[in-house]
Amino acid sequence: MRPEDILAPTPAGVCCKLGAFHIDPTRPVERALITHAHSDHARAGHGAVLATQETLDLMRLRYGENFAGRTQAIRYGENVDLGGAKVTFHPAGHVLGSAQIAVEANGLRIVASGDYKNVADPTCAPFELIPCDAFVTEATFALPVFRHGDAAGEIAKLLGSVALFPERAHLVGAYSLGKAQRLIALLRQAGYQAPIYLHGAMEAISSYYLSRGIALGDLRTVRGADKAALAGTITICPPSALSDLWTRRFPDPVTAFASGWMRIRARARQHGVALPLVISDHADWSGLTETIAATGAGEIWVTHGQEDALVHWCATRGLKARPLDIVGYGDEDDAEAVGEGGSEA
Ligand SMILES: [Zn+2]
Ligand SMILES: [Zn+2]
Repeated sequence: MRPEDILAPTPAGVCCKLGAFHIDPTRPVERALITHAHSDHARAGHGAVLATQETLDLMRLRYGENFAGRTQAIRYGENVDLGGAKVTFHPAGHVLGSAQIAVEANGLRIVASGDYKNVADPTCAPFELIPCDAFVTEATFALPVFRHGDAAGEIAKLLGSVALFPERAHLVGAYSLGKAQRLIALLRQAGYQAPIYLHGAMEAISSYYLSRGIALGDLRTVRGADKAALAGTITICPPSALSDLWTRRFPDPVTAFASGWMRIRARARQHGVALPLVISDHADWSGLTETIAATGAGEIWVTHGQEDALVHWCATRGLKARPLDIVGYGDEDDAEAVGEGGSEA
């Protein structure tokens, strides 16, 4: 038996014939196992969805009550048997409720990690390393140039700018699910206790985080706030809002963007960002390569992003590796930068 007899890549996503399910399918299927609630992984319209409670709740927030025919919640570490395949979910450290999905059959274990990061995040459970025979990894930042560095240092940069320009407002572009809440939590960790303002697109998801016990401090809505009163404040908004007329309600705004892409200066310039903040919810090059090595997997399947560089790195380590070529996964920061997130506002 080979790994691809248990999980096989198909155009709609990775499929387990034995258990009759797909993982993060990009098209509607009978039964979907969903790693996390970002829209490229979690789509509406499946017959049945198995995911963590948080992922199900966040999908419901996004798509409405009838986003799937049936839903089933699974806890981290809990076993579910699907047609002889043993399925378990484990923390991926990416966003609240995010999971790696381990599928075991005939003594082989394959882990589909979805999106993941192996650094601390106060808003979600830490990444758990699952030893396996085959590892399905993302490759969003799979080039050696991507070193995310210390998020706390980037937060200090933001707070330094706020202190330097007390008469100006700071607008920080951040993806509305996960990044926004992590940014707020990091600001609180750094001792920032002032109210933090939210764009309309952030409100429902941030309230949900609060309801799950994630401490975010004093949050206010921008709607109805007085322009002069926004001087010296921090507002979190979708990246697409940074180039919107919406910014005119702020006094002389300083624009920032929290994303792994901010390592690339041209990207920051392209978005007209004055203050690029390198903060990512994806593993960077060393995070990806260290994780791959640590799983002990002999076979690596690489999806969405810079597949080639990671496949090449695996080959130099004597690992069997291949790109999955599944169309439909993207990067959430990029998606919102071109305006997809605006629809939530
Ligand atoms: Zn994601
Ligand atoms: Zn993704």
